[in-house]
Amino acid sequence: TIGKIFDLTVKKFPNKEAIYDVRKNVRYTYKEWSHQVNRLANALLNEGVKKGDRVSTFMFNTEELGTAFFACAKIGAVFNPINFRLTPEEVAYILSDATPRVVLFEKALEPVIGSIENRFDKISFWFIDKEKPEYAASYQEKVASASTKDVQAEINENDIYAFIYTSGTTGRPKGVMHSHRNMVDQSVFCNAAQKLEAEDVGLVTAPMFHCAELHCAFLPRVHIGAKNVILHQFNPKAILRLIEQEKITKLFAAPTMWNMLLQEDLSQYDLSSLKLGLYGAAPMAPTLVHALHDRLGITLIQAYGMTEMGPAITFLSETDQLRKAGSAGQAALNHDIRVVRTREDGPSEPEDIIPVGETGEIIVQGPCMMIGYFNREEATEKALYKGWYHSGDIGYLDEDGFLFVNDRVDDMIISGGENIYPREVEDILHAHPGVLDVAIVGQPDDRWGETVTAFVVKKDPNVNEEDLDEFCKNSDSLANYKRPRKYVFCEALPRNASGKIMKFVLRKQLEELFTPGPT
Ligand code: AMP
Ligand code: MG
Repeated sequence: TIGKIFDLTVKKFPNKEAIYDVRKNVRYTYKEWSHQVNRLANALLNEGVKKGDRVSTFMFNTEELGTAFFACAKIGAVFNPINFRLTPEEVAYILSDATPRVVLFEKALEPVIGSIENRFDKISFWFIDKEKPEYAASYQEKVASASTKDVQAEINENDIYAFIYTSGTTGRPKGVMHSHRNMVDQSVFCNAAQKLEAEDVGLVTAPMFHCAELHCAFLPRVHIGAKNVILHQFNPKAILRLIEQEKITKLFAAPTMWNMLLQEDLSQYDLSSLKLGLYGAAPMAPTLVHALHDRLGITLIQAYGMTEMGPAITFLSETDQLRKAGSAGQAALNHDIRVVRTREDGPSEPEDIIPVGETGEIIVQGPCMMIGYFNREEATEKALYKGWYHSGDIGYLDEDGFLFVNDRVDDMIISGGENIYPREVEDILHAHPGVLDVAIVGQPDDRWGETVTAFVVKKDPNVNEEDLDEFCKNSDSLANYKRPRKYVFCEALPRNASGKIMKFVLRKQLEELFTPGPT
């Protein structure tokens, strides 16, 4: 179980530094951190939290979030980290769905909690920063006075350890249920893929509520006895300063974060300690892979996956970075991946495998497959149809067994009857030196069904539509019908906290910008 692997690390490395919370300027050894974990575990027990009860966190990256992760695991409570970017109504939806006993939240997010808290009289809200009379149950008060006595609850490896809410691009978010066993397995193969060692120092800067950071980086490092430096929020300059100061060796970041780091003056920092950069959670353009490789000179590994699979299902190893740039890599240990024909009228059939090089839906089996969506039997049955997780991503396998992820089924553009995968066009435009960021979406069109539209964030203020169109025309890997017919320049792309472009927001923007009609 997750609680057990934490205890084993504490036993092995009691005096080794475990965690450094940069904002609070607090450092704990594993022994000291285990006291914090036990205190919170006992405080939750004192509150009446029982095995299977949910405990939610609503905070940026903090030591308390990491502490809650293990405290819940030790008492068999279900850990439920909530996205700090959500609006009050979105948070209220998750609270009414997950029905937690306790919510731990931090000061910066008080306005959100303050506006919905009176709707939840069965939930105890604990404020982690400092005591506030309005919140009768303050974290400091409850936790500081609790015992550090070790908690040994009866937990089975197949018990649910967490609900992690994931939102598709449509509909309400669903609570993905994972078991202890799932996460221990995830942690083992993520350790292997990143060759983690106890001497490693990892920087936590992607949001911890998202399982890419939590399960692929933070947890495996605790598992092996490495140190986690926790940065409250993503900040390129702070990251570079911390790499130098804390001698960070391994770092996970989403592609957009890596892109922002590369905009900084790297020569001002000593980054020699950094050995490995893990990227994933969203597609990364091959140009950016090359830039990272050339400018940072570190080992790069890509992970591809989804919350429902714990998340990682493939890795692109260091040796394949440049040779296979653009690919998501090969199946992670113990995973089986197929590309199957999509169907209009239901989930794809796992046996309907399509030939190498052809595009279809990516389906997968592996040890970290979710138990299901909480309270969503129908959605669970569809997602796990015939024992395979249906990802809703489309892609293909090449002759060497490398997976290429094109796009979400929902984001694919159909223009004049031809399928266009936005990512192909995005990857081309990313290579233009005047482009900082780009997203391609389809715009409804009477004549063509949809036309290709590019949202572009400029790096060079002088770049214009004609330059980019010329660039696309000159590209030998972009058929004419895939060329954007419209460009919209903007300051930034709407991305969610895990770095994915929210294309539905862009499509909505287009609706408002243009009246659809023949071009
Ligand atoms: P989530 O459920 O938030 O973890 O999002 C999962 C989705 O993120 C996947 O289904 C993919 O569409 C996308 N994704 C994750 N990792 C990658 C990657 N390395 N390359 C391309 N897309 C990715
Ligand atoms: Mg998802």
